[in-house]
Amino acid sequence: RAKELGRNNYQLYTESMNQKVFQRLDIENSLRRAVEREEFVLFYQPQIDIRNGKIVGFEALLRWYHPDYGLVPPMEFIPIAEESGIIVSIGEWVLKTACMQNKKWIDSGLEPHLIAVNLSARQFQQNNVVEMIDRIRCEAGLGPELLELEITESTAMQDLDLTIDVVNQLRKKGIRVSLDDFGIGYSSLNYLKQLPIDTLKIDKSFVRDITANSKEEAIAKSVISLAHKLNLTVVAEGVETKEQLLFLKEEGCDKVQGYLFSKPLPAEEIEKMLREKERFIID
Ligand code: C2E
Ligand code: MG
Ligand code: MG
Ligand code: MG
Repeated sequence: RAKELGRNNYQLYTESMNQKVFQRLDIENSLRRAVEREEFVLFYQPQIDIRNGKIVGFEALLRWYHPDYGLVPPMEFIPIAEESGIIVSIGEWVLKTACMQNKKWIDSGLEPHLIAVNLSARQFQQNNVVEMIDRIRCEAGLGPELLELEITESTAMQDLDLTIDVVNQLRKKGIRVSLDDFGIGYSSLNYLKQLPIDTLKIDKSFVRDITANSKEEAIAKSVISLAHKLNLTVVAEGVETKEQLLFLKEEGCDKVQGYLFSKPLPAEEIEKMLREKERFIID
């Protein structure tokens, strides 16, 4: 059935529960083999310094080319990988690939950039997560200051004491941590104060309505000013329009990421972009 739908046309079975269960198991089984079958690819999305338009980093984003279903979006398979625990080995592959790619760019003579890698809750809660991260980074030969890990606000809040401990250990290794999807979880200002993170990423749901709706506008403004009071760098994700960009610049947001600048792209295209231009026009 899935084959008939064509390689690039991933679709959910909707006929019955049975088929949903079957499909889930099927995805789980193919996920288990996807790393060794080399079906994963990382795409990279530029992060831009809002003051001067320079590319200062990239977020690594996972893509899965399923042999039958074609391109499966992360939101369709990451929750399954997470529940089944397969995310732990996939996540190590992601980290290794991202660190090696970043090192490769530096070795080819490009200016060093920050690489941001998403960590799932399951990975974050592994006993040896800090050793694992630092070992992979070290094997890739990448400086710790060029690696940033993104954990979501909801991951961070699952066990605040554990989060503070792990983030502190990462910090001691010189690795940065950012709080992703900020604003949609259980944000409490009191938690934020206790977390030794470096960066806060405003969720794209707030950025989307920044200029149309005064509530989102007010939230974005106060998140930026709060973050700065706590000495955090603020990144806005999902920036799609000039209006959103100018608003964020006006409010002093530090970095932006979104389709206005670039979609996530394969490594070769990023390299081309870096060789052609190192700067976007902001105003
Ligand atoms: P995220 O970490 O919040 O990543 C940002 C998402 O927003 C990405 O979706 C990106 O493609 C998308 N995006 C970027 N700019 C724009 C824009 O201007 N407009 C809109 N509408 N979207 C934009 P993507 O690549 O589909 O990833 C979705 C989520 O899957 C990520 O959200 C992250 O939570 C998860 N994910 C992706 N790669 C990994 C990974 O390697 N490991 C883990 N644990 N999770 C990952
Ligand atoms: Mg992220
Ligand atoms: Mg995010
Ligand atoms: Mg998000």
